[in-house]
Amino acid sequence: FTEYALDAAQFSPIIQALDTVAPDHPVYLVGVSGHTSAANTRALELLAFPADVAGVMRDADGQPNGLLVDKANNLAFAKFAESFGVDEKAGEMVGRAIETAHSVGITTLHALEGGIAGDDQAAEEFLAAVPTLPLRFVFYYQTMDVDRVIGLGLPRIGGCILLDGDVGPHTAAFTEPYADDPECYGTLYYTQEEVDAFVLEAHKAGLQVAMHAIGDAAIEQALDAYEAALDAYPRGDHRHRIEHADLIREDQIQRAQRLGLALAIQPPFNYYWSHAEYIPTLGEERASQADPFRAMMDAGLLLAGGSDSTVTPLGPLIGVHAAVNHSNPAQRLSVQEALELYTINAAHIAFQEQDRGSLEIGKLGDLVVLAEDPFEVDAGHIVDISVEMTVIDGRVVYRRE
Ligand SMILES: [Zn+2]
Repeated sequence: FTEYALDAAQFSPIIQALDTVAPDHPVYLVGVSGHTSAANTRALELLAFPADVAGVMRDADGQPNGLLVDKANNLAFAKFAESFGVDEKAGEMVGRAIETAHSVGITTLHALEGGIAGDDQAAEEFLAAVPTLPLRFVFYYQTMDVDRVIGLGLPRIGGCILLDGDVGPHTAAFTEPYADDPECYGTLYYTQEEVDAFVLEAHKAGLQVAMHAIGDAAIEQALDAYEAALDAYPRGDHRHRIEHADLIREDQIQRAQRLGLALAIQPPFNYYWSHAEYIPTLGEERASQADPFRAMMDAGLLLAGGSDSTVTPLGPLIGVHAAVNHSNPAQRLSVQEALELYTINAAHIAFQEQDRGSLEIGKLGDLVVLAEDPFEVDAGHIVDISVEMTVIDGRVVYRRE
């Protein structure tokens, strides 16, 4: 379900609806962004939250209404993901995900694993299987355990290490209050000291760091941590990252550029939920500045595009289309820039520009054949271009029927 429909009458209270259809079985639904979930009474019993946990939404009588946001949502998500553990169907599901990736023209997939995305043991089994899989993966371990990542020989740490939540459930953290709740500034999930300590340790160990930040207060927290680590241990070409950065302010864009940071952005968010959808929660002014791709690009930041799948479907052309057709015309990118988000820049943000990201002699034999030329079709139809063929390492892995 989508958070933007939470106030709709049919979801109020959701616990009653879920208990009616499933009185005896636990039911747990994850909202589209992953930052809100819904649980029935049996599921809440299994979750057995500590009494003071933030984010168990309640009705006027103080009873849980079934909605979970904030820390309660994160705890529930982790607990249920862990309970699935290493499923015997995992291999089959990974195989189907790879087929989907091939069919939409993906040759390298950046996969965020472990931590909030699920069980760490499953993540490490997946990592071990990567060399045998018919798709190239860039593996992100969403842990703050630096030693563990070093032990696995990984060059980067994090992914969606959640510094805050998302705008819909009012957990994205801002320096100004939400427009529809003057008391609410969202939630920072960590203290500045915790983020500083993590970033410093990872940076000092030579890792590339990636953290999720949506609201300007969370982005500020990331910027402060990166700046402190870089001051203490200067290092060029670190490519430390902020994931999403949807509500980054202009002064923060400039600061990110000075620090040499890269941004992993998701243009499809704007395709599925235009900036106007932020108006009720953030007000006209902030909404109009959401996902400022043009400003980010003009500042000279390294920008790479993603889907945040399963938040939006796998499909680089959706992202290319979204960046070119931003709902705010002032923030649109050119077709060339948008294609680069999903090719050379995506390679660059993972330190892989030497062997992929563009068609050049000496690079890997990975390419995608499209039915139409994105530079020629009407900009409003880029999303309709079909993928004819996907080639990885010189081998055709997908051909359209
Ligand atoms: Zn995220």
